[in-house]
Amino acid sequence: MKLYNTLTKKVDEFVPNEEGKVKMYTCGPTVYHFAHIGNLRSYIMEDVLERFLRFYGYDVTRVMNITDVGHLSSDGDTGEDKMLKGAKREKKTVMEIAEFYKNAFFSDCKKLNIKYPDIVEPATNCIGDFIKMIEALIEKGYAYLANGNVYFDTSKVENYNALTGHSSDELMVGVRDDVSEDLNKKNKSDFVLWFTKSKFDDQELKWDSPWGVGYPGWHIECSSICMKHLGSKLDIHCGGVDNIFPHHTNEIAQSEAYTGEKWCNYWFHVHHLNDETGKMSKSKGDFLTVSLIESKGYNPLVYRFFCLQSHYRKPLVFSYEALDQASATYNKLVRRIAGLKAGDDVDNEFVKSAKATFIEKVGNDMNTALGITCIYDILKANTTDASKLKAIEEIDNGVLCVGLIDSANALNKQAEVKTEEASTNDNIDPELKAKIEGLISERANAKKEKNFARADEIRSILAEMGVTIKDTREGTTYTLN
Ligand code: AMP
Ligand code: ZN
Repeated sequence: MKLYNTLTKKVDEFVPNEEGKVKMYTCGPTVYHFAHIGNLRSYIMEDVLERFLRFYGYDVTRVMNITDVGHLSSDGDTGEDKMLKGAKREKKTVMEIAEFYKNAFFSDCKKLNIKYPDIVEPATNCIGDFIKMIEALIEKGYAYLANGNVYFDTSKVENYNALTGHSSDELMVGVRDDVSEDLNKKNKSDFVLWFTKSKFDDQELKWDSPWGVGYPGWHIECSSICMKHLGSKLDIHCGGVDNIFPHHTNEIAQSEAYTGEKWCNYWFHVHHLNDETGKMSKSKGDFLTVSLIESKGYNPLVYRFFCLQSHYRKPLVFSYEALDQASATYNKLVRRIAGLKAGDDVDNEFVKSAKATFIEKVGNDMNTALGITCIYDILKANTTDASKLKAIEEIDNGVLCVGLIDSANALNKQAEVKTEEASTNDNIDPELKAKIEGLISERANAKKEKNFARADEIRSILAEMGVTIKDTREGTTYTLN
């Protein structure tokens, strides 16, 4: 399979360090607020990559950190601490905030069929590991102490800008307009490994260290957690494009300074989801969450489907019109799948070749849009319905995970219930039937006009008549007791 690699800036053939095994690391969320659907675009595409690798036959181990300490709201070493900001906003402790939003994050992931990583590690579990790594970096001459803080000296590493391909001075422009330069640093791009003195509000969580009571910088947590669980060599590191600089650039610098050799071979970065006003941000106040789109009646898996329709390396613009379109396409596809008849013979050769085509298409730098096209090709193929169902099931359950088969089954079930209801309702006296249906239609109009009192009144009248009504997406159905 082929993957675009931010490090080499081209699509490379993917070859893991150890045959058949993939070590994968994902920068986890900073748990000071709900994840927005932009964050979740990154996690959906990383999930598809992980699932694809498994589908391809690799034995994958995936580690994710949880940033529950530090992570300053500007570019990593400046600005207010995000966790502290969240705690102040909600008048809770940092750990309460972290626990609540970590659970909220994984609950969103579940709704979007994002697999729980093999290992999830909160930063606060690993302070001792960070300290050991910082000590080693100081010993090797890559880090220095200045005014109570420990900094990484970026001038000591060769090719610090390999990931971005730009000079650090170019990257610094605009990043720090709002913050005065930290005079403790030897070089502009140096970054903090351990804080004991910060010009910002004091931290709630602090630990003892050889340099005094303090807390770690953000970047050190990923290098340390990654090596703790996956050893000194990594195959794939993932994140959103905003992580390329400074976060991933600094991760490479400190990890390779620590081990003395190349650390990670493939860097997978997902481009941003933007709303129509520009980049999506958690600090913007009202922001788009899974719960919000759910409350508007969208199936979260339609959002996953929407993401898979575009390539992960292109920016994607979110609008409700675009989501409506994705929803219409999804529902149409589900209806076609629901029309397939199970029970025929399965042509295993067909299933095998459909899977091979899917692997070939998606395996060319995670072309998920072509992966969806494969489902249409399967539907058009000259084979039994059961073979089509089997091929779609394997591809969807294995990689796409947009719930096609489940939705199709639910649709068929719904249709069965409706037919059952219709056939029982056929025996109702025609006059009574007309009355019931008249009341149901009057109730629908009352609801449309937001006259909920009248709608409730009609429901009670129907109940007194022995009629139970059920509101479904397709309208109201009823049964007479
Ligand atoms: P954070 O919780 O801010 O650390 O971000 C979690 C993940 O979401 C990181 O991998 C970010 O790179 C990614 N991310 C942030 N904003 C967006 C966005 N608008 N679209 C896609 N991914 C994003
Ligand atoms: Zn990270």
